[in-house]
Amino acid sequence: MYLKHLTISGFKSFAKKGELEFSAPITSIVGPNGSGKSNVAESFRFVLGEQSVKGMRAKKGADLIFNGSDSTSRGNRASVSITLDNTKRVFPMDFDEIILERTVHRDGQNDYQINNSKVRLKDVQELLSAANIGPTGHHIISQGEADRILSASAKERREMIEDALGLKVFQYKKVDAEKKLKKTRENIERVQSLRREVAPHLKFLERQVKKIERAVLLREELTTVYSEYLKREDTYIAHHSDRLRLEREEPSSKIEVLKEQLVEAKKVLADSEDGEKGNEVVALEEKISAVRTLRQTLLRKSGQIEGQVSFLQRRIAQAHDKSTKESEAPVPMVEVKKILQVVESSVEKAVKSDDVSQLQRALSDVMHTLKKFVQGASGLVVVNTDTEEKELVALEKELHSSEKEITAVEEQETKLTGQYEELKRSIESESQESREAEREVFRIVGEQRECENIVARIDGELGVLERDRNEFKRELQEAVSLIGSGASKYFSFEIVTDGKVVNNKTIAEEPREQQRERRRSLEKMKIRLEELGGANSDIEKEYKEVKERDEFLVHEIADLETSVEKLEELITELAAQLNEQFVAGIDKIGAEFNRFFALMFGGGEAKLLRVKPKIRKKKTDDDLGTEIEEDDEEDENIEEGVELDVKLPNKRVRGLDMLSGGERALTSIALIFAMSQINPPLFIILDETDAALDEANSRRYGDMIEALAEKSQLILITHNRETMSRAGILYGVTMGGDGISKLLSVKFDEAVAVAK
Ligand code: ATP
Repeated sequence: MYLKHLTISGFKSFAKKGELEFSAPITSIVGPNGSGKSNVAESFRFVLGEQSVKGMRAKKGADLIFNGSDSTSRGNRASVSITLDNTKRVFPMDFDEIILERTVHRDGQNDYQINNSKVRLKDVQELLSAANIGPTGHHIISQGEADRILSASAKERREMIEDALGLKVFQYKKVDAEKKLKKTRENIERVQSLRREVAPHLKFLERQVKKIERAVLLREELTTVYSEYLKREDTYIAHHSDRLRLEREEPSSKIEVLKEQLVEAKKVLADSEDGEKGNEVVALEEKISAVRTLRQTLLRKSGQIEGQVSFLQRRIAQAHDKSTKESEAPVPMVEVKKILQVVESSVEKAVKSDDVSQLQRALSDVMHTLKKFVQGASGLVVVNTDTEEKELVALEKELHSSEKEITAVEEQETKLTGQYEELKRSIESESQESREAEREVFRIVGEQRECENIVARIDGELGVLERDRNEFKRELQEAVSLIGSGASKYFSFEIVTDGKVVNNKTIAEEPREQQRERRRSLEKMKIRLEELGGANSDIEKEYKEVKERDEFLVHEIADLETSVEKLEELITELAAQLNEQFVAGIDKIGAEFNRFFALMFGGGEAKLLRVKPKIRKKKTDDDLGTEIEEDDEEDENIEEGVELDVKLPNKRVRGLDMLSGGERALTSIALIFAMSQINPPLFIILDETDAALDEANSRRYGDMIEALAEKSQLILITHNRETMSRAGILYGVTMGGDGISKLLSVKFDEAVAVAK
């Protein structure tokens, strides 16, 4: 026996504590009308977790609490507890006895307890469903409610049968999984919306980081192009400077020799003639020589001014391009290191070479670099274009006047040369001897002029190379500040063309235009690099963080989608199990129903039919859109319901509608009993199910009850003498003038008396 004890306190008419022991398989509760018997049945519903107050004949929770009478004041709470035997561990708890208690307060609040520990309703339901005590209360048949199983809809009937078959556990799991599925889908939506929110920012950061990456690549490319450019430039300048200096040596020394020869020739000339024309020649020659020297000096000066002008023009243009000005802050260590590297690289290179001119060049490079650095360190590098522009104007003026002077000197030289030629012709017509001497002077002067022209050309070319060298030094510094110290290692860079290392001679012989083209592409790359901007560790860090967060969200969505799949699988599986067991169960209940029915009616036929509820669907005409017909359709997703089909013996008509009141009662009892056979509940409470039976049927009812009691404990509320006679224990319920129900144990004769 599983049901041991019931304590009822403050519940409905039971204002005072009442207790019932259930030590026999059949317990009958008897008493006059209105004494509170049905309240006992409802107290069972209540404690087992019934959520419909209507199902307990009340409008609200507070109606379940004793409401007071003329002599007794109302209560504040109602509580009912039942004690269940668990020595066979029917309930999944490690206790031999389980006490369930429910209390309702006036404010409608409910408390549940299992073995004196507060629990949730869900815990109570799960505990009970393990022992097949479900919430539809198929094992508690209230007064007049036996008929409910006949009047219920196919769907409701299915629920009652599922409950009786103990399939509620699957239902709970399925509902639970469906709730989780809904929640998971909501979570997916939430995470997706988080991703959508962050997406534009992530895209922005992605673009920035790509720019930074492009800048890194471009910087690498720039380093290579710069190295090649610097190497070529340095090699070219060095090679041609050496060549020109060498070329200059011969004419320069020849000039020296010719100078001496001229002195000698002049002496001879002076001795060989009367002297006047000779003196004139000498004087003219000296004037020409002075004018020539002056022209050379002026040309050099003008060349220098030109160099300065072009340098200033470039500086000013750069200063205009650059909006940012260098600060006057103390020189950072990194700048000092850069300078050190440039100096080191020049010295290193010079040390490796045994060429004196290379050494001289290196020293001049070092001097130049250091001067620039000192200027920069003292803040002079800050470009003041005002001053420079003024300086440029002054220089341009100076250049102009220098050019004017040169023109004047050239004119003078032409004039003097004319006079000289004239004199030369007149002397030529004079004496042979003096002519010889004069010719000698003319030859020397002619050769001198040739040599001087050569030297002047070479000096001009060297001047150009010098300017290129100064420009090269500036470019090297710029390269170091742009791409770092690596730039100063350009001389160890190997230029490879068609798989072969290009030698210095080939470099030096390359047409200058190609190097200028390289210079232009370098400038373009620098502009592109400037546009891309420098490295920004903040952006890269933020991108990494935002990306990681996004990846985390993607991962989370994937996890949630896996959960969705698993839950969907679980739901399908549970639905399949539910259906399988339901189909098997319904066949067994159907067979039992048919057996009980035949027993009750002495023949006939009763069946349970699985049906799919029909949905009415309206069909519309495609063209007109008007309703033209109605049709019944079956929907695959709709669960099956259960219908009844009965046929009484010796009667032609079939169906429930044809049954009398008593026949309906017997049919419902047959079904309730059939349901109890397959998966017998621990206890069954029947409240006046026998009310409509005549004497003969009461006996059959009594027989079936005894058969039923072999599998389930029975509590029967009855006025029926026959039913009472089958009970092992009898309780009487009375109600006095105070409106309070009282419980008492009675003997059969007393019970018969009380019942009447
Ligand atoms: P019958 O044999 O006619 O079916 P019964 O013995 O089953 O009667 P119940 O229906 O259980 O009687 O009890 C009804 C009685 O309980 C009524 O007198 C009703 O006033 C009383 N009752 C119901 N709710 C409360 C309440 N909250 N407070 C006090 N009394 C209540």
